[in-house]
Amino acid sequence: MRRKTLSVRVGNTVISSGQPVVVQSMLNTSTMDTEVCVNQAIRIIEAGGQLVRITAQGVKEAENLKNIREELRRRGYETPLSADIHFNPEAASVAARYVEKVRINPGNFVDKRATFQNLTYTEEEYRAELAYLRSKFTDFLTICRQYHTAVRIGTNHGSLSDRIMSRYGNTPAGMVEATMEYLRVCRDTDFNDVVISLKSSDCRIMITAVRLLVEQMQKEGMNYPLHLGVTEAGEGEDGRIRSAVGIGCLLNEGVGDTIRVSLTEAPEAEIPVARELVALCRPDFEAGVAWQEGKAGKPFIVADSDVLGEADCFVGEAAPEMIFAEAGDAKWRVLPDGVTVIVPWEQWEEARRYRAAVCPLIPADGFKKGAGCGEKGRIFVEVNREEQIDADLLAASEGREVTFVLSPQETDYHAYRRMIRLLGYACPVIIRVKEPVRENVHLKIAAHVGGIFMDKWADGLWITLIGEAKQALELSRNILQSAGVRRYKTEFVSCPGCGRTLYNLEDAVAKVKRAFAHLTRLKIAIMGCIVNGPGEMGDADYGYVGAGNGKVNLYKGKQRVKTAVPEEEAIDALKSLIAECGDWKEPE
Ligand code: SF4
Repeated sequence: MRRKTLSVRVGNTVISSGQPVVVQSMLNTSTMDTEVCVNQAIRIIEAGGQLVRITAQGVKEAENLKNIREELRRRGYETPLSADIHFNPEAASVAARYVEKVRINPGNFVDKRATFQNLTYTEEEYRAELAYLRSKFTDFLTICRQYHTAVRIGTNHGSLSDRIMSRYGNTPAGMVEATMEYLRVCRDTDFNDVVISLKSSDCRIMITAVRLLVEQMQKEGMNYPLHLGVTEAGEGEDGRIRSAVGIGCLLNEGVGDTIRVSLTEAPEAEIPVARELVALCRPDFEAGVAWQEGKAGKPFIVADSDVLGEADCFVGEAAPEMIFAEAGDAKWRVLPDGVTVIVPWEQWEEARRYRAAVCPLIPADGFKKGAGCGEKGRIFVEVNREEQIDADLLAASEGREVTFVLSPQETDYHAYRRMIRLLGYACPVIIRVKEPVRENVHLKIAAHVGGIFMDKWADGLWITLIGEAKQALELSRNILQSAGVRRYKTEFVSCPGCGRTLYNLEDAVAKVKRAFAHLTRLKIAIMGCIVNGPGEMGDADYGYVGAGNGKVNLYKGKQRVKTAVPEEEAIDALKSLIAECGDWKEPE
């Protein structure tokens, strides 16, 4: 069931719970180049994009939105446009006259760039800033009302004002309050054409913030529609999985009326991914299945024994903790004792001839009838249907070292959650997914299971991609890393680029990945510009940020430590910086 929201008209499109989820993307071309912008917008529209966002750094770019819009209309494209504004209320007011929607960022609409230093505000100072915000934003809404322009209040984790930071810190609660300050002005002035987004490059923060905001709006009697997205998701498989985990989880919960998948790729490449996510996460979720803090610690991975033939799948930290194997398959017998081996129940006797500590996987119905009874040690019980979870099953598991393996017919977020609730959180739970390899199957799995791990509802993940054990293992790692519960590899976050981008972002991402991919445990951000990049890097350990004219600024956390490094020297400079900070190690 979708969360009920108001209808917001954006040109010929309506964003609302009463409508299908709207998919959108954003240009990464220079806003002053009308022809190039129009051509890219058309590629997005023809891929299925229903809203196109364009950055407007200043008044002259905001003025040029008029030309872009007119040219698009002249060529027969009626898709609405949205302007993206930071640090420039004047540009927002100009853009509101020409395009159907304007996105403003509460962190910098009237507030100056956060300094992270002025963190003590008196009551009076705090109130004075709020009054100023109210007056400037009300002026802007008056223009929007006059031109029938919708507004997106787009809060980013990386760009909260000093005022908000002083009371809430850089937290989901701070993101919510930053948004509420603006929403209260909308409500008080009866301006209802408002969409909201709360984004972060960290899926956990983004999901927590959106859930808190929904709760807060409910308390204050508001029901504005929501735009979902994970910022700086990156590119390729990593970017897709991170987006699927963050956006998929909320769509599955019935939240979200428009989405953007931010990839560091051509913007039109985002649209099929966004459409697929909407199709995968059906909104008819069971009402009342609420999220909660779970019990699980660091989740483990179960892999099928086929990965044992893949040498690089079984090294160090990235190795799966459990292997499911046939008793007759000799490969598992040489595994170190620390790896738990699971075999089918009927092969358990045979397997125990080779190793004492082997665990059986027992079907729930057999377990209820006594299979495995009288045996000591850990056993795995596979549940395929909700009806199997009854008093007999719970009674049979009492006092035993049981781990439930949930393996419903369909890979379905709600089916897993319902089963976990029925089991009552008493025993560890493994989410099992069995799917054939086909287009978009990775997205589907990430969208349906990522949120379960984020909420710590499950203890293990076991993905079987028929015939593709290595891919399945890689996907398991990727989902757990995107859910923020394990870290297997360097995490790269990169913005999708826009009209502000100051260098070839895709090349920069590729170079940085090549040089630093072997450094597990680090988070490195590659950002297109120094205006928003540093703020939006979130909690990255290091930042590589385009500074214009072939130069790059380097950051350690939020602190700029090297300025205007020539691009050709920037990789080496980042390497030295990482070494100086004690985080460098040579590739093996
Ligand atoms: S950080 Fe990237 S997407 Fe954001 S404004 Fe700068 S260049 Fe554009």
